[in-house]
Amino acid sequence: MHKTTFNCLGLTKRIVQTLKKQQYAFPTPIQEKAIPLLIERNDLLGIAQTGTGKTAAFGLPILHHLSLEEKRPVAKSTRALILAPTRELAVQIGDALKVYGRDIPLRHTVVFGGVGQNAQVTAMRRGVDILVATPGRLLDLFNQKHIRLDFVSYFVLDEADRMLDMGFIHDVQKITALLPTERQTLLFSATMPPGVIRLANKILHNPKEVSVAPTATPVKTVEQKVIFIDREKKRSCLVKLLQEATFDRVIVFTRTKHKAGKLAEQLTKSGIKSDSLHGDKSQSARQKALDLFKSGKVSVLVATDIASRGIDVDDVTHVINYELPMVPEDYVHRIGRTARAGASGSALSLCDKSEIPHLTKIEQLIKTKIEILEGERPQSDPPERSGKISKKKRKKRKKSFKKIVNF
Ligand code: AMP
Repeated sequence: MHKTTFNCLGLTKRIVQTLKKQQYAFPTPIQEKAIPLLIERNDLLGIAQTGTGKTAAFGLPILHHLSLEEKRPVAKSTRALILAPTRELAVQIGDALKVYGRDIPLRHTVVFGGVGQNAQVTAMRRGVDILVATPGRLLDLFNQKHIRLDFVSYFVLDEADRMLDMGFIHDVQKITALLPTERQTLLFSATMPPGVIRLANKILHNPKEVSVAPTATPVKTVEQKVIFIDREKKRSCLVKLLQEATFDRVIVFTRTKHKAGKLAEQLTKSGIKSDSLHGDKSQSARQKALDLFKSGKVSVLVATDIASRGIDVDDVTHVINYELPMVPEDYVHRIGRTARAGASGSALSLCDKSEIPHLTKIEQLIKTKIEILEGERPQSDPPERSGKISKKKRKKRKKSFKKIVNF
């Protein structure tokens, strides 16, 4: 079968050579679809999540355009602006640009909150070609006149759905209003809730739409299993699993920030080196946890869904769902943290009775029945024959359902 190569997408020779050095043999689907449209200067609505190669999908065309234009950045300004919801994602995009732009003499920097601003102010003094920023810090620096936004001709809004979830909509609107209207705008989002659609309609001009749908298709190299277990036995089961030698680098997911912090503490007390990553931690504490995990000093990271977005750690051997997510798409995001870049990985879900409805929704989304590793799947209610069920029976069922939910 004929496969598109990076040569066919219209990128400069220099960029194609860099990708070769990087051993990127073929573009990913989002890259194949988006890059030619972006080189033709279309606005773009990209429906794709982290892990699909979307950073290169928007980063490469920006590097392409900027390197061909004979312009230098004006002091304190930037020619391209990439907005990301979290510091981790911003840093990750900055790192990717370093790699993709290593053979091109362009300046870029990253600004984010939670740390002192002096180094960021200095980095912006002479102006940059590409600025990656989180919204709050960008506005802070703009208001203090350390950054000007009137030279932006490429604007990327990354992970728009998370941006809205995290309450950045007003900041995003303010920033957008400060940009020149003559610009190329790209919006990426894993999901398209109404808020994102409204925002896209406001900021994009005749956009082309590209969508890759890994949301419902977990990477094939992830082995998925489920353990049916009582809620109160989950912790001892987790400890046992983590003591096995193959559980080398593990992300454990919980539903709440509180639970993530508590579980990491409990695991540490049981002699398992772990840390947590959640939104109640300061930026520097989150970065520290991530660095410890990356360097292998802690082997277990307990995380919530939002905090885990954009974690780009290779060689994660296992993802454990200590609690199943309420939103089935989050399951796919979670297990995508393992088996990256072609490696294999395992995802294990500890499912108690009350979580069966979530498990069912997940299985419907991924169109797969997850293999059982231990325990037995509790019987679900027989299908209702409408109208034929007596009032008394219905009452009884309601009661037993309540019992399951409160389990
Ligand atoms: P992203 O979705 O941008 O976070 O990218 C996910 C991972 O895929 C990163 O580790 C990239 O370095 C890698 N990647 C991106 N594009 C390609 C490609 N065409 N071939 C191989 N790896 C890639």
